[in-house]
Amino acid sequence: MSAKVSVVKCNSYEPAAVQQAVGNALGLLGGITSFIKPNSTVLVKPNLLMSKSPDCGITTHPEVVRAVIRILKEINCKITVGDGPSVWGQYIENVQEVYKITGIRGVCQDEGVQLVNFDKRRMRNKFPLTVWLDECDYLINLPKFKTHEFTLITGSIKNLFGLVSGTYKTELHKNYFAPADFAKILVDIYQEAKPDLTIIDGILAMEGDGPATSGITRQLDLLLAGSDCVALDTIMAKIMGITQQEVLTTKEASLRNLGEAQLSRIKIEGEDIDKLNIRPFILPKNRAGCAVKINKLPEVVKKIVKSLIRYYPYSLRLKCTRCGHCVNVCPKKCITLKKSGIQINYNKCIACFCCQEACPAAAIGVKKSLLAKLIGL
Ligand code: SF4
Ligand code: SF4
Repeated sequence: MSAKVSVVKCNSYEPAAVQQAVGNALGLLGGITSFIKPNSTVLVKPNLLMSKSPDCGITTHPEVVRAVIRILKEINCKITVGDGPSVWGQYIENVQEVYKITGIRGVCQDEGVQLVNFDKRRMRNKFPLTVWLDECDYLINLPKFKTHEFTLITGSIKNLFGLVSGTYKTELHKNYFAPADFAKILVDIYQEAKPDLTIIDGILAMEGDGPATSGITRQLDLLLAGSDCVALDTIMAKIMGITQQEVLTTKEASLRNLGEAQLSRIKIEGEDIDKLNIRPFILPKNRAGCAVKINKLPEVVKKIVKSLIRYYPYSLRLKCTRCGHCVNVCPKKCITLKKSGIQINYNKCIACFCCQEACPAAAIGVKKSLLAKLIGL
């Protein structure tokens, strides 16, 4: 076996239950000191995608963050918590609001640890990554267990996108909007900033049109831990009922030998996932979810379908609160705020769906081209 992942049950976010489950997940892998040396400095990076309360299942639950902080305190570490909340991260006031609403600020205040913005950056490889990676000895990655319309899952590797500072995320979305290209960028970031430990919060997971307000929460009652993000995402995919090869980031990282994607070479400690009888996750209706179906078609048909199929964002006007977040995050600046809601200039739209991801009101839907509807995608 070349990688180890622990899978433990935890059926609520009650603080004592989470503390015990995180302790168990680490204990199965040899304990926290197998990953982090005592007396060191540690950056803890949860998934704080947007300004929503923890019960929406969009962000890493603050009790998971608290449990990790307390374990690190036991070995006398100096802890820093932070995230660059996806496309929201370009405005500091948004980040502060995210920290407050997601409950992360409260936990950091209770525990007396510093909570930082990722506004200061240093170019590493071709990305401006937060300088907190330089300031700390170790990185602990705390993703959320969710489906993702664009990348199929948002697990260990995808969560590292938040290390990219501010507006540069929008640039990356603009320049690498094809899913395979974007997956390569995410893996480049993983290569540059490999976490020393990852714990996936899958207690309240998300299926369907994740990762934000259009997804469906799903009580999964699981935590996953390990140091190999490729192995973790492989196990996460298996639990969801998909294969690791369908997750482009896992496929790319495995091609680059950055981790273990062969199930037979990953040792799972704790729960036997085959015996958990988990119903396969509902996949996103469009984009990544359709790609899974298209990839099962014969090669010739696949190419034709891929070249003809299109997806577009559209406004669900009755839900729109005119908050303007979509306007701010659109990398092509093709959304205009009108009295009645938003208007999208389809001549400029690159179908990156940053607008949908950033919308706090689930007011942006996805339209499919006629061919997609005709062939049942
Ligand atoms: S309108 Fe939405 S999908 Fe189109 S480019 Fe802007 S953010 Fe991307
Ligand atoms: S579509 Fe969503 S993000 Fe855009 S203005 Fe309306 S509510 Fe805000």
